[in-house]
Amino acid sequence: MPQTCAIILAGGAGTRMGKGTPKQFLPLGGHAIIEWTVALFEHNENVDTIVMVSPPDYMEKIRELVEMRGPNKVSAIVPGGPTRRDSSWNGLTAADFGDGDIVLIHDAARPFAARATIDGCIEAAKQFGAAGAYVKAVDTISEISGDEVVAIPPRDSLYYTQTPQAFRYDVIRLAHEKARTSGISTATDDVSLAIAAGFRVVRVEGSYGNIKITTQSDYDYACYLVEKGLVLFGGAGP
Ligand code: C5P
Repeated sequence: MPQTCAIILAGGAGTRMGKGTPKQFLPLGGHAIIEWTVALFEHNENVDTIVMVSPPDYMEKIRELVEMRGPNKVSAIVPGGPTRRDSSWNGLTAADFGDGDIVLIHDAARPFAARATIDGCIEAAKQFGAAGAYVKAVDTISEISGDEVVAIPPRDSLYYTQTPQAFRYDVIRLAHEKARTSGISTATDDVSLAIAAGFRVVRVEGSYGNIKITTQSDYDYACYLVEKGLVLFGGAGP
């Protein structure tokens, strides 16, 4: 019976927040941000196991946070690598996955992913092999080189990329192997590796509440949502 595993990527330095602590460990309503993210998958019965990808210096901290919660689905805690692609790969090789298993790859910094998005990604990956969460771009997006505006792609076809992204294991494993052979190391998500390897990837509806806590104002907004009770630990996003 194929299993579903959530790989939570927390291996980044989180330096854009300008704090000493990586952003995923900042407090949010009595828990660390990363605990909110783990709870999304702990409380989802469609997810069997969780793999945590940690900054190398924070593995013990993550182990403590996980063990504090008692019985849990975390099957491995592995160190991240220098790039997101490396961190993702470390997660993908942290357990003995079968080709037909489903892996969800999710940013630790997105603690409010909606249940419907997570379930939608799992279902779409089972059916099509690869899927990701997207919301329509509301801003006009411009390509800039230096200080010069070089292109403004039509907004109708532009979406903001979120996580989770979900894959059948054989698909994402091959995509990563090809990326490693061809030296694609700057990818900021896993779907780009699947596309580069020639796989079809389908869009699942994300939500505007599925924010990635990156800047101080994102963090302030997340704290506000929690204070006002607009998000629930382990459950619904805004
Ligand atoms: O940099 P960005 O915010 O897009 O990172 C998205 C997620 O990927 C974050 O949760 C971050 O911790 C993770 N990451 C990682 N290893 C890296 C870089 C980013 O696990 N080397």
